[in-house]
Amino acid sequence: MKEFMNGRVTVKIGDITKENVDAIVNAANSGLMGGGGVDGAIHRAGGPKILEECKRLRQEQYPEGLNTGRAVSTTAGKLPAKYVIHTVGPVWQGGKFNEEKLLANCYRNSLHVANEKGCISIAFPAISTGVFRFPKELAASVASKSVKEFLKRYDSIKSIIFVFFSSADENIFISKNEFDK
Ligand code: ADP
Repeated sequence: MKEFMNGRVTVKIGDITKENVDAIVNAANSGLMGGGGVDGAIHRAGGPKILEECKRLRQEQYPEGLNTGRAVSTTAGKLPAKYVIHTVGPVWQGGKFNEEKLLANCYRNSLHVANEKGCISIAFPAISTGVFRFPKELAASVASKSVKEFLKRYDSIKSIIFVFFSSADENIFISKNEFDK
């Protein structure tokens, strides 16, 4: 566990579904119908309410799916959090398809949605670094820069937690983040 930005950012190892925060972010896919990885874990732990709301959003607001980089909130079912913010990370395709910008958008747009919902605390997984194969070192730099920019502009959110599934992933983030730059 490590803190940055005067304690406003915490980096830790854990299962994001257990985080006691106002909002947890889901690394969703554009269909919003659930999936593997952290998406599967969130739906399993949170129960069917979250998927019902995702399906309704799909029908009513995003018939074509949620675009990459965008974020949308639902309730959090049985989870300790109040909201799940679903964001669609980019699939890594070698780096020439705007992947870095799109990943930064995920963090920024999720924070804006959290702000609109009045959230004070939010937890992020390492978006796109699983099945979507975004390089973890680069993701650390992109995620930390995006969050840092937000924290410089807004003071409403008091606590942002980066939750990693393994100590290896946490270590990569701690060595490659740009909070102190
Ligand atoms: P993506 O499709 O965006 O790559 P994944 O869910 O495959 O999303 O992976 C994103 C990251 O989430 C990976 O680093 C994976 O190890 C991590 N992860 C998986 N389950 C959890 C969980 N329960 N809590 C926190 N992180 C998780």
